[in-house]
Amino acid sequence: MEKSMKRLVIAGGGFAGFWSAMSAARHAMALGVRDRLKITLINRDEYLGLRPRFYEACLAGTRVPLRHWLVPLGIDLVMGEIASITPASRRIQFANGSNVVPDIIYDQLILATGSRQTYPDFVERDRVFSVDTFAEATTLDQHLRALAARGFPTPASRTFVVVGGSFTGLEIVTALPSRLEHLAPSAPRCTFHLMERAAEIGPGYAPDARQYITRRLQHLGITVHTGQGGLRHEKDQLILADHQRLPTETVIIATGFAASPLAAAFGGPRDRGLGRLAVDAFLRLPGHPEVLAAGDISLAITDPDHHAVMSCQHAMPQGRTAGYNAVNLLFNKDPLPYAQPRYRTCLDLGPGDALVTAGWERHIMTTGPEAKAIKTEEILNQTISPPTDIAGTLAMASPAATS
Ligand SMILES: Cc1cc2nc3c(=O)[nH]c(=O)nc-3n(C[C@H](O)[C@H](O)[C@H](O)COP(=O)(O)OP(=O)(O)OC[C@H]3O[C@@H](n4cnc5c(N)ncnc54)[C@H](O)[C@@H]3O)c2cc1C
Repeated sequence: MEKSMKRLVIAGGGFAGFWSAMSAARHAMALGVRDRLKITLINRDEYLGLRPRFYEACLAGTRVPLRHWLVPLGIDLVMGEIASITPASRRIQFANGSNVVPDIIYDQLILATGSRQTYPDFVERDRVFSVDTFAEATTLDQHLRALAARGFPTPASRTFVVVGGSFTGLEIVTALPSRLEHLAPSAPRCTFHLMERAAEIGPGYAPDARQYITRRLQHLGITVHTGQGGLRHEKDQLILADHQRLPTETVIIATGFAASPLAAAFGGPRDRGLGRLAVDAFLRLPGHPEVLAAGDISLAITDPDHHAVMSCQHAMPQGRTAGYNAVNLLFNKDPLPYAQPRYRTCLDLGPGDALVTAGWERHIMTTGPEAKAIKTEEILNQTISPPTDIAGTLAMASPAATS
């Protein structure tokens, strides 16, 4: 590598990392400095995982090969598990495994290693399921297929429990009845239970939205158990707060996320509970101007009153801003501030139904088939899936592009 080459390294190839890479390549071309910039993206595997689709019945197409975009744009893909980052020497070290990767040095780093599912103390990891990663979603899918193939012979085999009554748990549980019916149309009736620690399900939603969700759960025959702070899990049994025993072979955990443990490599303020790294208006880490953070690992300010939430909606625009800013910082230009005042959510509620909310209060904007079309046709099939053509992707990679 020529000495004058600048090294931009992007850690993580999820939504934030992918759009950082696209934005950096686009902006470097626009500035005429692409031949003086080496861009490297590091990811565990060769895929951009479309996490919001991992609760779906069909997992085909829920991850896309990064090389499709990286190779034509001359971006290097390094596959490996980052074990640690040493900020003082700007060095990234990898875990030992079958794939030995030498250390990588950066001039500018975009930290975008995302988040991962957290598990409550009462569960043993290898006896519960989740949809956090493609591998975990695949394991759940295989389990459901195996139960269907056995014909759901016992009460435990036909009882399905989702723990966590927020966004992800609601999407999983409302998809399950039709998913199982599709797998085994003539099998005995299954039962579905949703466990929530709080007094109400959908704790982050406004009252109108919570009422809508509650009615939908009733309509689908899903039993809601609130106030379940003290669950216990014994072999094929979930023991509820009131000591009721629920025989079940399927406990799916959806109790929330925490920022990637690589956040701990950098000092500085982090938010309680989620462990995200506070960043300035330009997504830089305080005390580390050579590091930007984007996506679920970043505690970014969206407007004067709010921080970003862990969502694609925020990870993608943050990536676009981080990529742009990384190039500007490397070539002595001013970075752009990140701002994203508009906020909406779109919750899948099973066949033919969804709930779209607008604003930070999360009041209902629309429901039913109209909301379902926004979820499936707009968000899952378009917004979060990068266009297959490179020019179209680059056109969307500007920080000015909407989420
Ligand atoms: C089931 C589910 C449903 C969701 N639904 C929605 C939704 O409807 N709308 C919405 O906006 N958001 C939704 N989200 C949240 C959304 O998926 C995340 O906010 C988003 O993925 C964050 O993007 P990211 O790039 O920051 O992190 P990630 O998508 O987590 O990507 C991080 C990447 O870094 C890699 N990585 C991590 N650590 C290392 C390491 N040590 N070494 C190498 N590589 C590493 C990972 O493999 C991954 O590829 C959902 C999430 C889940 C799990």
